[in-house]
Amino acid sequence: MKRIAVLGSTGSIGTNCLEVAAAMPDRLTIDSLCAHSNWELLSQQAKEVRPRRVILADEGMKQVVSRSDLPEGVGLEFGSDAVEAAAASADVDIVVSAIVGAAGLRGTWAALEAGKTVALANKESLVVAGPLVTDLARRRGTTILPVDSEHSAVFQALQSGRRSEVRRVVLTASGGPFRTWTRERIEQATPEQALEHPTWSMGSKITIDSASMMNKALEVIEARWLFDLPADQIEVVVHPQSIVHSFVEFVDGSVIAQLSPPDMKLPIQYALTYPDRLNGPSPRLDLSETLRLDFEPPDFDRFPALSLGFEVARQGGTCGAVLNASNEAAVERFLNGNLAFPDIARVCRAVLETHQFDPSPTLSDLLRIDQWARKETERWTPSYSHSCLTSTPS
Ligand code: NAD
Ligand code: MG
Repeated sequence: MKRIAVLGSTGSIGTNCLEVAAAMPDRLTIDSLCAHSNWELLSQQAKEVRPRRVILADEGMKQVVSRSDLPEGVGLEFGSDAVEAAAASADVDIVVSAIVGAAGLRGTWAALEAGKTVALANKESLVVAGPLVTDLARRRGTTILPVDSEHSAVFQALQSGRRSEVRRVVLTASGGPFRTWTRERIEQATPEQALEHPTWSMGSKITIDSASMMNKALEVIEARWLFDLPADQIEVVVHPQSIVHSFVEFVDGSVIAQLSPPDMKLPIQYALTYPDRLNGPSPRLDLSETLRLDFEPPDFDRFPALSLGFEVARQGGTCGAVLNASNEAAVERFLNGNLAFPDIARVCRAVLETHQFDPSPTLSDLLRIDQWARKETERWTPSYSHSCLTSTPS
């Protein structure tokens, strides 16, 4: 029996994770559920799952919620420190890190520091602090198991050969809702259009990232650190059906792929039951009907965010934290209607190019530069230039 803490239980990954756990009650049990502020869903989950405790990261919710909404015996806590304590608890074997954004790094870190296996959905943990996070896992002798579908696919395909035999890893991308749009049309894209993902149902931040292909950029960086691969061994191919989740090509020319319908329950389940494969709640590939699989090269001109991913994966240091923070702030501005869609990649490049690069930052350096990059992004206008920058934290 594995005991699980779910960080971000009310999100898209979190709710899928609870479905997986409910389908295998003799293997998986939920110890803790953590969310930001969605009390309605969290208290409902508490009734269904009966965890040991639930946590709201937003301390302001103390005044809003009522303990009487919870079943007897379920503890209630508040604040980010409580989320970290749940991740490090002696009663937990696996931590599902599924908070969105750089806010998820603290939980990932606390779990690894306590020697827990981490089922990692929060790719931002690796984008912001890849070398520090993987080094911590190594030092604590613990494992990061990917939940991101592409990285789960790579992790599975890598088992077909030795690491020294890998030629390249190819991440697939759906191409998002603007795959066939002209550059002129993309200039005018609205939040509603960007939130219409053709194949995946996900939280709003990652859905916007998929439309700009920033999601794939973040995944290139995630793969760089998770699998310790140089950026020039990572490629991206657009695959609109989202059935092939990624490929690994070995030196003899064999290409091993992992296929399944686009549904996050399978990669979540694989991380939770690894190394076992069990009959679970994920949908099966239906081969009784004609199945078409298309692949096309990505268009770096219409989706310039993708180039940023490769550049940042090559440069390392502070670049990942700056790109991630700038993107988070830019996505928020776009959703609030005060940034044009293509400006997301533009502001990220501007902030990245003007930041003071440090090749080997500490965790506190990264958290400081994250705050700086958010502020710069919030005040960015298309006429932003070097001279209007506030100073980079040193
Ligand atoms: P979501 O927006 O649906 O859910 C986010 C969850 O995080 C919610 O439970 C929310 O309450 C919680 N949260 C947000 N801010 C928090 C904070 N400061 N403290 C504590 N909790 C907080 O997001 P999602 O789509 O489930 O994505 C979660 C993560 O998984 C992201 O890093 C995303 O990139 C990654 N991911 C998601 C998918 C997917 O299919 N949704 C696929 C691959 C990877
Ligand atoms: Mg993915």
